[in-house]
Amino acid sequence: MFYIGCHLSSSGGYAAMGEEALRIGANTFQFFTRNPRGGSAKKFDPDDAAKLISIMKENSFGPIVAHAPYTLNPASAEAKTREFADMVFKDDIETLEHIPGTVYNFHPGSHVGQGVGTGVGHILNMLNRHMFHGMKTKVTLETMAGKGSEIGSTFEELKTIIDGCDFAKHLYVCLDTCHVSDAGYDVCEGLYGTLEEFDKIIGTKKLAAVHLNDSKNPRGSHKDRHEKIGQGFLGIENVERIINCPVFDGLPIVLETPNDIDGYEAEIKLLRGMRK
Ligand code: FE
Ligand code: FE
Ligand code: ZN
Repeated sequence: MFYIGCHLSSSGGYAAMGEEALRIGANTFQFFTRNPRGGSAKKFDPDDAAKLISIMKENSFGPIVAHAPYTLNPASAEAKTREFADMVFKDDIETLEHIPGTVYNFHPGSHVGQGVGTGVGHILNMLNRHMFHGMKTKVTLETMAGKGSEIGSTFEELKTIIDGCDFAKHLYVCLDTCHVSDAGYDVCEGLYGTLEEFDKIIGTKKLAAVHLNDSKNPRGSHKDRHEKIGQGFLGIENVERIINCPVFDGLPIVLETPNDIDGYEAEIKLLRGMRK
């Protein structure tokens, strides 16, 4: 299955996102669980969620992706920042359990000088407190570009987090093509080699979502600046290889490229045309 979509604004609610996805030819989408730079979430509306679930069923959508706010940093050295992360993570999971099978993606966080080991310890505290057996949400660690003290720019770091999680069965990875390239991995000619490495260290069965972005910067730049499809250092041929790679088959593939809604619609059309 080819599930392709983009990041959408959640300001109109769940059903509105489902309808917008349909309108632009998407069969998945991503949204922020709350203001990306702040913390407040709208009150959960069960009728609105039920409407979205029926839109998804009727139109054979793949799983959708809920993205935690950027301000979530469970690895922080500041107790207050960690408490905020804790509150958001717990609350978001409670909400997302109403839309079974949803991917809940978060950036593992920045250790800000404490070292990876201490940072990972903080992340695990949050996960082990609020994940639970039998949960229906798939939590994903996003692969990071390695900007500053970001944790999760190597497959080994992600594996360490998964191994330390008491609910590892429900913990997966969201692979961001811009981030992975910026982190130094080859997602161009060497895509299959990179996925082999991923498989050896983490296991490709642990992939639950893909962020499909081109990059404004060359491999290994650690910059994290997304570019439109085909207009960056990945280029269109390599994007074509990615979307036709059987490893990603059946996963929600979400665009986070610098586009307005018309730009997203055009990219989805382009990608559908390249799909073999
Ligand atoms: Fe992200
Ligand atoms: Fe991303
Ligand atoms: Zn990014």
